[in-house]
Amino acid sequence: MLSVEEALQKILDEVDVLEEETAPILESLGQVLAGDIISDINVPPLDNSAMDGYAVKYRDTIGASEETPKFLDVIDTVMAGSIPGREVVSGTAVRIMTGAPVPEGADSVVQFENTDEAKSKESSSGQPAIRVGILSEAKSGLNIRKAGETISKGATALKKGTVIRAAEIGMMASLGYGKVRVVRRPVVAILSTGDELVEVDKPLPEGKIHDSNAYSIASLVRRYGCVPKMLGIARDNEESLVSKLKQAQGADVLLTTGGVSMGDYDIVKDILDRDGEMVFWKVRVKPGKPLAFGKIKGKEKSIPHLGLPGNSVSCMVSFELFVRPALLKMMGKKNFAKPAVEAILEDDVKNDAGRRIYDRAIIERRNGHYYARLTGPQGSGILSSMSLANGLVVISEDRKTVNKGETVQALMLDWNEEVNI
Ligand code: AMP
Ligand code: MG
Repeated sequence: MLSVEEALQKILDEVDVLEEETAPILESLGQVLAGDIISDINVPPLDNSAMDGYAVKYRDTIGASEETPKFLDVIDTVMAGSIPGREVVSGTAVRIMTGAPVPEGADSVVQFENTDEAKSKESSSGQPAIRVGILSEAKSGLNIRKAGETISKGATALKKGTVIRAAEIGMMASLGYGKVRVVRRPVVAILSTGDELVEVDKPLPEGKIHDSNAYSIASLVRRYGCVPKMLGIARDNEESLVSKLKQAQGADVLLTTGGVSMGDYDIVKDILDRDGEMVFWKVRVKPGKPLAFGKIKGKEKSIPHLGLPGNSVSCMVSFELFVRPALLKMMGKKNFAKPAVEAILEDDVKNDAGRRIYDRAIIERRNGHYYARLTGPQGSGILSSMSLANGLVVISEDRKTVNKGETVQALMLDWNEEVNI
């Protein structure tokens, strides 16, 4: 049976980065840049003030202090977004707002706090002063943001392969790009299998269960930036399955859940064998041993198919371990690792299966250490064990028992303040 790493490698070997598309920048969050972004403007476009204050010649401020103010004539005011009309000559100052272009002749900006602005405002009932007292020495360039200091014209602002986050979207907007070339998002067809399954909004006859896998898996697909295509439920017969599989045409990946274990009706892997190419079936992992991977023949191309186990925890854990990296690769990403911490176990864990265990746990930080306690019974169908968890503790395949107090690796499913990490 394949190890987790071997199985993952086989999957990654079979998937490629998808083509490029043009997306509005706001839609590109989480996608990968398909090319360098070159700036054709300077950002900022002009030298401008970093403070509300007075644009001056710094030489005029030499020797200025609280006790010995240097008085300058205020000849103009310049607001953000306007162009200064007057040149600063020796003995004069221009009142300037943050972001406003620095007038000709000025080489520094003295912020209001270092002038008598507040005092003179009080005494002149809010009217701008005609003279300002400078209370500290300025240096050349003080409080001036140079044109092009964020990005200069012709420079590479963002590199191909960058994962687009809020800051990158802001950068593109500041450069005047409303659209961007990115690697497109994979479309992921999701099909549940089982005679026992009932749609979420239908009444539940005796002996049946609602199809929950389609929803947990589609949510993961979305969470990692891909597009779910819900195919519904196939029954445990070849005809139903084959007809549903036809609807997967056009998708980039097919995910099925159920029908891959040893049961009588487990026909997914038979169909994979017949209508595609089976790469492997079964991985040395718990939960999630019966994982099938192959390629299903389509009209134009064959698409990678992951046959996830039917148990609701197994299919989610298998998704995190095997599907997520494949999707990230298709999106052009390079880092497939889940964030991990070293955590001190607060429960004993047995491993009589000889497989790598991923137990559901609550990871908490206390007194500078991470601790991991299991979320109750770990049955692979107990979805609440997953719902309570923010991480998966990893128990090596060659350990029979790992005891409370030992340090283990924990993969973080979520990492946020609500769970007190
Ligand atoms: P299977 O792999 O088809 O033998 O399914 C294993 C277990 O998972 C069985 O108890 C199924 O009822 C359950 N199961 C399979 N598919 C789903 C699904 N879509 N939603 C919830 N449970 C499922
Ligand atoms: Mg089944």
